[in-house]
Amino acid sequence: METQGRASRVNKAVTFSFDDGQMEDVRLVDLLNRYRLKCTFNLNSAYLCREDALTKTLHHADRVKADEIKALYKGHEVACHTCTHPSLTEIAADEIIYQINRDAEILEELCGYAICGMAYPNGRFDDRVVGVISENTAIRYARTTVSAGSFDRQEDLLRFHPTCHQENKDIFALADAFVQLQPTEPKLFYIWGHSYEFNSPEKWERFEALCAKLSGKKDIFYGTNREVLL
Ligand SMILES: [Zn+2]
Repeated sequence: METQGRASRVNKAVTFSFDDGQMEDVRLVDLLNRYRLKCTFNLNSAYLCREDALTKTLHHADRVKADEIKALYKGHEVACHTCTHPSLTEIAADEIIYQINRDAEILEELCGYAICGMAYPNGRFDDRVVGVISENTAIRYARTTVSAGSFDRQEDLLRFHPTCHQENKDIFALADAFVQLQPTEPKLFYIWGHSYEFNSPEKWERFEALCAKLSGKKDIFYGTNREVLL
């Protein structure tokens, strides 16, 4: 955990993880940048917005544009979410390997750096899936959708459980507790979600208030998933 390497300065880290690459990510990135917060964006390469060369029509117009992701997510991290978002527990090993390695390959080409993390599509994983990933891919951490409700360090990075979802009713209490913590060992506040779930002005405002509460603290390291987990 890189925060351990930084432990002489800080023992606390905040990171975010957002899935699916919907267009609302553009607004989310702008908000995170204003508060100097760092996020990992888990993308499905088959569903990125692309223009059909012949007809000039846009495919997947509700998603971020393939040729813009490098610039859009600059300073953040792009990670794997498989090509087409299948539940990995329901497909064969060779298909799992393809879904992850092909997605990472395309994202690497678009972003210009190696992809080392992922989020499980539909939150689905089991021991078989984790074994296949561990033995056949370059993935070093994989996020579940199981809220741990905790800031404690986790050893099993291929079954990494976030602290909570963006809409958790206790998220402000968690944020207050985290800001007040003075830990002697590394603690991480890890929030996950989808930008399209901010489907009302109130939800955007609530999330911005959370960002304001967590940002700008001298004793917190703000990093992407790879920066805080690896
Ligand atoms: Zn997803």
